[in-house]
Amino acid sequence: MPKRARKLAIDRARPYIDSPLMTQRVRLGPQISARIDGSYGVYRTQKHTGPRGSGTCNCPSERWPCKHLQALEATWRANPTSFFDVQRFLDSLAWIIHEKGEVVETQTPPRGYSVVLSH
Ligand SMILES: [Zn+2]
Repeated sequence: MPKRARKLAIDRARPYIDSPLMTQRVRLGPQISARIDGSYGVYRTQKHTGPRGSGTCNCPSERWPCKHLQALEATWRANPTSFFDVQRFLDSLAWIIHEKGEVVETQTPPRGYSVVLSH
Protein backbone atom coordinates (compact mmCIF):
# COMPACT_ATOMS: atom_id res chain seq x y z
CA MET A 1 0.00 0.00 0.00
CA PRO A 2 1.40 3.49 -0.83
CA LYS A 3 2.38 5.51 2.23
CA ARG A 4 -0.41 8.07 1.82
CA ALA A 5 -3.07 5.39 1.42
CA ARG A 6 -1.75 3.62 4.50
CA LYS A 7 -1.98 6.84 6.52
CA LEU A 8 -5.56 7.39 5.36
CA ALA A 9 -6.47 3.83 6.32
CA ILE A 10 -5.02 4.30 9.80
CA ASP A 11 -6.89 7.62 10.15
CA ARG A 12 -10.13 5.79 9.35
CA ALA A 13 -9.32 3.10 11.91
CA ARG A 14 -8.20 5.53 14.62
CA PRO A 15 -11.59 6.12 16.34
CA TYR A 16 -11.77 2.39 17.10
CA ILE A 17 -8.20 1.76 18.24
CA ASP A 18 -8.20 0.72 21.89
CA SER A 19 -11.48 2.59 22.32
CA PRO A 20 -14.67 1.68 24.21
CA LEU A 21 -16.20 0.97 20.77
CA MET A 22 -14.11 -2.19 20.71
CA THR A 23 -15.41 -4.71 23.24
CA GLN A 24 -15.26 -8.46 23.86
CA ARG A 25 -11.58 -8.55 23.03
CA VAL A 26 -10.50 -12.15 23.01
CA ARG A 27 -7.33 -14.00 22.20
CA LEU A 28 -7.04 -17.72 21.50
CA GLY A 29 -3.51 -18.71 20.51
CA PRO A 30 -2.56 -16.65 17.46
CA GLN A 31 -6.16 -15.56 16.81
CA ILE A 32 -7.60 -12.32 18.15
CA SER A 33 -11.13 -11.08 17.84
CA ALA A 34 -13.34 -8.26 19.02
CA ARG A 35 -16.80 -6.80 18.72
CA ILE A 36 -16.77 -3.34 17.17
CA ASP A 37 -19.53 -0.79 17.40
CA GLY A 38 -19.22 0.58 13.85
CA SER A 39 -20.90 3.45 12.02
CA TYR A 40 -23.56 1.22 10.47
CA GLY A 41 -23.81 -1.66 12.86
CA VAL A 42 -22.02 -3.96 15.22
CA TYR A 43 -19.31 -6.03 13.63
CA ARG A 44 -17.39 -9.11 14.62
CA THR A 45 -13.77 -8.84 13.57
CA GLN A 46 -11.12 -11.51 13.85
CA LYS A 47 -7.55 -11.79 12.78
CA HIS A 48 -4.45 -13.93 12.91
CA THR A 49 -1.71 -12.02 14.74
CA GLY A 50 1.08 -12.97 12.32
CA PRO A 51 2.66 -10.28 10.12
CA ARG A 52 0.71 -11.44 7.08
CA GLY A 53 -2.13 -12.80 9.11
CA SER A 54 -5.47 -13.21 7.42
CA GLY A 55 -8.57 -11.77 8.96
CA THR A 56 -12.30 -11.47 8.57
CA CYS A 57 -14.89 -8.86 9.42
CA ASN A 58 -18.62 -8.99 8.77
CA CYS A 59 -18.92 -5.28 7.90
CA PRO A 60 -20.08 -4.34 4.40
CA SER A 61 -16.76 -2.69 3.41
CA GLU A 62 -15.22 -3.84 0.15
CA ARG A 63 -11.78 -2.67 1.22
CA TRP A 64 -9.47 -5.28 2.66
CA PRO A 65 -8.30 -4.97 5.28
CA CYS A 66 -11.22 -2.84 6.43
CA LYS A 67 -10.75 -0.21 9.13
CA HIS A 68 -12.02 -2.61 11.79
CA LEU A 69 -9.32 -5.14 10.98
CA GLN A 70 -6.75 -2.34 11.03
CA ALA A 71 -8.08 -1.15 14.37
CA LEU A 72 -8.05 -4.68 15.80
CA GLU A 73 -4.42 -5.13 14.76
CA ALA A 74 -3.42 -1.71 16.14
CA THR A 75 -5.25 -2.37 19.42
CA TRP A 76 -3.49 -5.70 19.80
CA ARG A 77 -0.13 -3.91 19.36
CA ALA A 78 -1.04 -1.00 21.66
CA ASN A 79 -2.79 -2.88 24.46
CA PRO A 80 -2.43 -6.68 24.28
CA THR A 81 -3.41 -7.17 27.92
CA SER A 82 -6.89 -5.83 27.17
CA PHE A 83 -7.57 -9.10 25.30
CA PHE A 84 -9.03 -11.96 27.32
CA ASP A 85 -6.64 -14.88 26.95
CA VAL A 86 -8.87 -17.93 26.48
CA GLN A 87 -6.01 -20.44 26.60
CA ARG A 88 -4.72 -19.03 29.86
CA PHE A 89 -8.23 -19.17 31.28
CA LEU A 90 -8.59 -22.82 30.23
CA ASP A 91 -5.18 -23.59 31.73
CA SER A 92 -6.15 -21.99 35.02
CA LEU A 93 -9.45 -23.84 34.96
CA ALA A 94 -7.62 -27.13 34.41
CA TRP A 95 -5.38 -26.27 37.35
CA ILE A 96 -8.36 -25.52 39.57
CA ILE A 97 -10.00 -28.81 38.58
CA HIS A 98 -6.74 -30.64 39.24
CA GLU A 99 -6.28 -29.00 42.62
CA LYS A 100 -9.81 -28.69 43.90
CA GLY A 101 -11.97 -31.17 42.16
CA GLU A 102 -12.23 -34.62 40.81
CA VAL A 103 -13.04 -35.97 37.42
CA VAL A 104 -15.83 -38.48 37.55
CA GLU A 105 -16.42 -40.95 34.79
CA THR A 106 -20.08 -41.16 33.94
CA GLN A 107 -22.05 -44.26 33.05
CA THR A 108 -24.87 -42.38 31.40
CA PRO A 109 -24.54 -40.80 28.92
CA PRO A 110 -21.87 -43.21 27.77
CA ARG A 111 -19.56 -40.69 26.13
CA GLY A 112 -17.30 -38.24 27.88
CA TYR A 113 -16.72 -37.22 31.43
CA SER A 114 -18.43 -34.86 33.74
CA VAL A 115 -16.38 -32.61 35.96
CA VAL A 116 -17.35 -32.13 39.59
CA LEU A 117 -15.88 -29.26 41.54
CA SER A 118 -15.72 -29.94 45.26
CA HIS A 119 -15.25 -27.26 47.89
ZN1 LIG B 1 -14.86 -4.26 8.95
